[in-house]
Amino acid sequence: MEIVSLIKCDDYRYEKVRQALEKSFENLGGVKKYVNHGETALLKLNLLMKKKPEEATTTHPVFAKALAEILIEHGVKVIIGDSPGGPFNEKILKGIYKVCGMEEVAKDTGAILNYNTNSVDIKNENGLILKRITAIEILEKVDKVISVSKLKTHGMMMFTGAVKNMFGIVAGLDKAEYHVRMPNNKDFSNALVDICLVADPVLSFMDGIVGMEGAGPSGGDPRKVGAVIASTSPYHLDVVATSIIGLKPTKVPTVQRCVERGLCKGNLDDIKLKGDRIEEFILNDFVIPEIRSLDLLEGKLPKFMRDIINGLLQPKPVFIHEKCMGCSDCAKNCPPHVIKMVDNRPIVNLDECIRCFCCQELCPVKAVDIHRPLLMKLLSRL
Ligand code: SF4
Ligand code: SF4
Repeated sequence: MEIVSLIKCDDYRYEKVRQALEKSFENLGGVKKYVNHGETALLKLNLLMKKKPEEATTTHPVFAKALAEILIEHGVKVIIGDSPGGPFNEKILKGIYKVCGMEEVAKDTGAILNYNTNSVDIKNENGLILKRITAIEILEKVDKVISVSKLKTHGMMMFTGAVKNMFGIVAGLDKAEYHVRMPNNKDFSNALVDICLVADPVLSFMDGIVGMEGAGPSGGDPRKVGAVIASTSPYHLDVVATSIIGLKPTKVPTVQRCVERGLCKGNLDDIKLKGDRIEEFILNDFVIPEIRSLDLLEGKLPKFMRDIINGLLQPKPVFIHEKCMGCSDCAKNCPPHVIKMVDNRPIVNLDECIRCFCCQELCPVKAVDIHRPLLMKLLSRL
């Protein structure tokens, strides 16, 4: 049985968050069980892009601050880091740290903001899909990794939690290369599990105080969930988090892969919950995006026929030119480079588009929508 700690926390007042995190550590056996005095720990936050804390796209700074302080008080040297969407360089990191509130966290706590933008190749012979991962170098410089994810929906993967949070250890634009190499949802979700196994966080926390529903991971709406979730197992943590938002865990591709690979059961049967009762958190009206790259006919038809039919059912990114401010972030970060800026507005070549939806994920002004054919909408409900 894996322990998952679930603590109620209604808002981001420092004392309340700190108390919730202290209780979480208690439920999991205490800080010393995981990190020793004098060790260095990387707090791998979700810092997807330059977004203000109240937009609920990134790990809230109060959450990061309280966690960093607890660890620092135990003699741990804390480094805050992530490889966000897009290029991985000092200028971009600085902007993200500032807007996401992490500069303040570092100033208040003494935690160090990571500016090491080097990458290293890590061999992963046991990986199912990825036998080698290009990771951020800081991962190898620290003694322990602690994941601090945000509870959010995700257009491509339905849900982004503790397992998907580890995708941020892949260095900068290499993330785009992984999308190109694995346009298939099953391969990509297996790759995410490979990456999480390599990152091997000693602890995983989830900021579920205010999560994101709808068009996550950046274009959705903030939604209060009131939960601080923690576990040594990111796989079991995701099962609890998805259950809370009324999403059957095994509908989520990463959870499906974890079940196939024996990492969890995909339900609460192998989980010992500690803390507040899960029933107090359940939300039955949390807005979940319907998955966008579903191979509905897998196993039912030969592959060449599935490819033709799935091609007809495919959703597509649609650029809302009235909302677009012409920043070209979507074009610069489109993994197969199929977006061209024409008169300062993006135009996509849909024949070459791999439907990764990075353009939607990284658009700062929600100017990218996903349109799905009516037939696809109907089939997804089957
Ligand atoms: S669609 Fe969004 S990301 Fe692309 S150019 Fe317009 S504002 Fe920038
Ligand atoms: S246009 Fe958007 S969805 Fe298509 S490949 Fe580029 S980033 Fe991915």
